[in-house]
Amino acid sequence: MDFQSRPMITFYPGPSKVYPQVEQYLSDAWQAGILSANHRSEAFMEMLRHTLEEVRQKLAIPADYEIYLVSSATECWEIIAQSLTSKAGFHIYNGAFGEKWMEYATKIRPATQGVSFDLQSEPQVSLLDQMPADAEVICLTHNETSNGTMLPVSFMRALRAQTTQLIAVDAVSSMGGVEFEWSLADVWYASVQKCFGLPPGLGVVVVSPAAVAKARELADNRYYNSLLFLRDNFLKFQTPYTPNTLGIYLLGRVAEHIPVIQETAEKTVQRGITCYQFLEENGYKTLIGNPAVRSATVMAVETDSATLRALRKDALDAGIVLGNGYGPWKERTFRIANFPAVSDDDFLALRSFLSLRARSRQ
Ligand SMILES: *Cc1c(COP(=O)(O)O)cnc(C)c1O
Repeated sequence: MDFQSRPMITFYPGPSKVYPQVEQYLSDAWQAGILSANHRSEAFMEMLRHTLEEVRQKLAIPADYEIYLVSSATECWEIIAQSLTSKAGFHIYNGAFGEKWMEYATKIRPATQGVSFDLQSEPQVSLLDQMPADAEVICLTHNETSNGTMLPVSFMRALRAQTTQLIAVDAVSSMGGVEFEWSLADVWYASVQKCFGLPPGLGVVVVSPAAVAKARELADNRYYNSLLFLRDNFLKFQTPYTPNTLGIYLLGRVAEHIPVIQETAEKTVQRGITCYQFLEENGYKTLIGNPAVRSATVMAVETDSATLRALRKDALDAGIVLGNGYGPWKERTFRIANFPAVSDDDFLALRSFLSLRARSRQ
């Protein structure tokens, strides 16, 4: 079998570019013998402890928030519904991932409700007026990968001040790329194939003491991935099932290698601003016009479907993979991942391609 393809510069927002160092880490994992280690062994537990510690330090996760690892962000959608709600959640969303989360949660808790807001505008706390009285968790998508919007921190602060309900945040395509005020929510989760620059197969869940208290109150222990069961295991640096040992090892190595989040975030935000500016100056129309809600990590560019097809093909010929559009914007946007593993040189190549193309259109 031959799965080889030409090496490409990828701007796909997930799975996305993997840090080049991962090649060495893979070989190190092999050499270290960790791949065959029993997951109840001291060696595994020490490796897991190290990974969690590195992630906590680099992402500046508060000491009283716990970190668990699961298989994906999608799994988190179910864990939150199963273990943190007994009746219903309340979803505030403006795009395809937020809506999908609500659909998954509704299958588990049919009374779940949601409200959508306009993708060009800052969400308002008055959206809470539509929250049913029995809603137990407010569910937000911090970075809506499908349309390139990001929640303003002012909204998250206002929401936190307005309600005592638990808040859960899908931060799949922003965790590791930008800074969070962790105290503004009770559950934050991500998967590693976005801003962590790793191959897929692992979800990172960050949980507040209030979320643990709520899980205790509901005492859901019916599933292999019930939050309390996960917690009991992770507090001992173990896992409820035979885990993705390689993924955990790689996460630890990448976490060792990356700078602290303040530094990464500064770079991400600045490169995002530069890129939006470049796009506008070169006649590209970003899907999101309002800078207050634009994502720093995923940029969506709007075009018509014929132009899009030609652009994607020419990009491929130039060795560049642009992200497809997603959901309702599939046929008329492309997306650019501004993730930390994407290098400045990659962005230079993208800019030179896009500016050449813009000039040839005139
Ligand atoms: C990619 C993505 C997901 C899904 O992540 P999986 O690891 O495939 O479960 C969920 N939400 C957002 C916002 C995403 O970008």
